[in-house]
Amino acid sequence: MATPLLVTGGAGYIGSHVCKALAAAGWLPVTYDNLSNGHRWAVRWGPLEVGDLQDRARLDAVLERWRPQAVLHFAAYIAAGESVVDPGKYYENNVLGLLSLLAAMGRAGLDRIVFSSTAAVYGTPRRVPIDERHPLEPVNPYGSTKLVCEQLLRDFAVAHGIRSVALRYFNAAGADPDGELGEAHEPETHLIPLVLEAAAGLRPEIAIFGEDYPTADGTCIRDYIHVADLAQAHLLALDRLSGAEGTDAFNLGNGAGFSVRQVVEAARRVTGRPIAVRVRAARPGDPPVLVADAGRARSDLGWRPRHSALDEQLAHAWQWLTAPGRRPRADPCAIVRPAATQI
Ligand code: UDP
Repeated sequence: MATPLLVTGGAGYIGSHVCKALAAAGWLPVTYDNLSNGHRWAVRWGPLEVGDLQDRARLDAVLERWRPQAVLHFAAYIAAGESVVDPGKYYENNVLGLLSLLAAMGRAGLDRIVFSSTAAVYGTPRRVPIDERHPLEPVNPYGSTKLVCEQLLRDFAVAHGIRSVALRYFNAAGADPDGELGEAHEPETHLIPLVLEAAAGLRPEIAIFGEDYPTADGTCIRDYIHVADLAQAHLLALDRLSGAEGTDAFNLGNGAGFSVRQVVEAARRVTGRPIAVRVRAARPGDPPVLVADAGRARSDLGWRPRHSALDEQLAHAWQWLTAPGRRPRADPCAIVRPAATQI
C-alpha cells in the first residue's frame, strides 16, 4: 500500500487539489475533514475520515488506524472579511484546531507537518514584493490566527522536535487543469469565482470593494497563484521535511500583481461574456497590495510555477464552473438569472 499522509481539510479547495497531486506522486492522502466547508465529492484520491480537529478521540483513532508519515494541515477558516466581524470563530477553529492536532501528533509520535499559511501574516506591506523577512503585522484576525499558528510551530520545534514548513499562499486561483476539481465555497467570497459566476449569469453583478486604494486604478492588487502550482509546492515541502529539522516558511506567489478591475477585464476577455460591476465600500482588513517575492521557494525548494498567466488560471476556473457534469452548488446565489448589462 502507498504510504499514508494525513490531509486535514482535504475536502476543501486547495486540500483536494493537493490530494490529487499526492496520489499522482505515489502517496495515499487520508482526508480528515468535518465537511463544514469541504465537499465529500472532492475526496477522490484516498479515504475520507469525517471528524473535527478538536475531537481528540476521533483524531487519535484516525492516526492509529492509518499511521501516516506526515500531516498536511489545510483545515481552517479563510475569509479575512468575516474574521474581522467574528474573530472568536477564527481563533477557536484555526488556533485551537492546530493545537489539538499538534497534541495528537505528539501522542502518535508524528513529527512532520506542512502548514497552510497566508500572505495575510504580513498585513499592509511596507514594501513589495514581499519576501519572508518582511515584518509580520497582520491587519485582520484571519492573518493573526495564522501568525499565532506559525509561532506555535516554532515553539513546538524547539520543545518537541516537530519539523514544519509553513507555506504562505498569496491568492489561490484556477482549478485542476484536467477539469476534475475546482473551487466551490459556500457561500463564495473570493473574487475570481464570483467574477466567473457573474460571467456565467449565475449572479447579476459583482461588487468591487473600494476604488480609493493607493493603486493605479484605485482597486486592490493581489498576486494570483494557480492551485496546481500550490499543490506542487506541498510535494517539495514534504521532501524538505525529510531532510531539515526545525521550522521554515516560504511565500508562494508569482510576483505579479493584478488589480480587481484587471481581473474583471481578464475574465471578460477569457469568457467572452459581459460582467457587470458595482463599486461598494472597501472591505475591512483588506491591504491595498499583496505581491510575493517567492525567490526562496524557487531556490530552496526548487519550486517552478507552471501556470502563472492570469488568463490560464481564469480559463481553468471557467472550465470547471461551466463543465456539464459539475457538482451543483447549494449556494442560494447560484440561481440562474439573466446577465446584467456590462458596466
Ligand atoms: N474583492 C472584490 N469583490 C468581491 C470579492 C473580493 O472586490 O466580491 C476584492 C477584495 O477586496 C480583494 C481581492 O478582491 O482586494 C481579492 O479578494 P479575495 O476575497 O478573493 O481574496 P483575499 O485577498 O481576501 O484573500
